[in-house]
Amino acid sequence: MYISVIVPVYNEAGNLCVLHERLVNAVTSITNEYEIIFINDGSKDNSLGMIKNLAKDFSQVKYIDFSKNFGHQIAVFAGLEYASGDAIVIIDADLQDPPERIIDLYTKMQDGYDVVFAQREERVGEPWHKLITAKLFYKAINRLSDVNIPLDTGDFRIFSAKIKDIILSMPEHNKFLRGQIAWAGFNQTSVSYKREERYSGKTNYSYSKMFSFAFDGITAFSNLPLRLATYMGFIVSVIAFLVILYTLYVKYIAHDVVQGWSSLMVSILFIGGVQLICLGIIGEYLSRILDNVKQRPLYLIRESNFVNSNV
Ligand code: UDP
Ligand code: MG
Repeated sequence: MYISVIVPVYNEAGNLCVLHERLVNAVTSITNEYEIIFINDGSKDNSLGMIKNLAKDFSQVKYIDFSKNFGHQIAVFAGLEYASGDAIVIIDADLQDPPERIIDLYTKMQDGYDVVFAQREERVGEPWHKLITAKLFYKAINRLSDVNIPLDTGDFRIFSAKIKDIILSMPEHNKFLRGQIAWAGFNQTSVSYKREERYSGKTNYSYSKMFSFAFDGITAFSNLPLRLATYMGFIVSVIAFLVILYTLYVKYIAHDVVQGWSSLMVSILFIGGVQLICLGIIGEYLSRILDNVKQRPLYLIRESNFVNSNV
């Protein structure tokens, strides 16, 4: 059994040494055949230097250095492209996912599962607004889409090479890996764990990154928002038709034509608002279609110690 551990890294210099040590301890209790792949996602601190030092001392440490920040999901995807393990582990670099839990994930996988994800039973030290937005997001996406994405899971998980190949066969640019894995099916289960506080540094997910991640997830797995635009169009049309009837009544039967400025304003504003929302929804999908049509590479590598990388 060869295990690949994939670690996306963005400004994690304060965590890497401890992370590496704990990872090695955990993984070697399972097997001595393993690789740890660090993807440096355009860090501005000394993360790359530390990774290269680790790679000098430990032959199992592989790294990919991106030319700039391409985002967490792309970093994990790049790791998948280079991973050669029979089992793949994805773990954050900030020690919020305790490396020791890999043993539990692995043990569970031996019961014949293709995917075992770690489900947070408790989240320590995360601000309440992050917990609330995360909960709302998972509620929304499960309601809107056909795939069932388990609540309170991140990307911390183990899965088979078969699942890896399925993920790699999905070329979409706006990645939402946990959704894609849920979509794949097969035998999936969870192991619950306590999510720790960040060991050092601060979260790299700003609100704008979180929102675009949430939109990626929803647009990748649901066309309902688009259909919602159509529904709204219908509802507004029905209301507009009633208003037309009322206008005719006022003009020809009640002969009360001067009034009506306020109702006019209300209906113009209302219809304008609905139209803008609908255009916005269509725009969200359109921009993602554009991203895919452009066929740009997902990421660019500055340097790497993989022999088969194209640098
Ligand atoms: N990360 C990354 N690129 C980014 C942002 C984050 O590779 O643009 C990595 C980061 O180094 C960490 C993981 O993704 O290993 C999760 O990020 P973070 O801890 O900031 O997210 P949170 O735990 O707050 O959701
Ligand atoms: Mg984190």
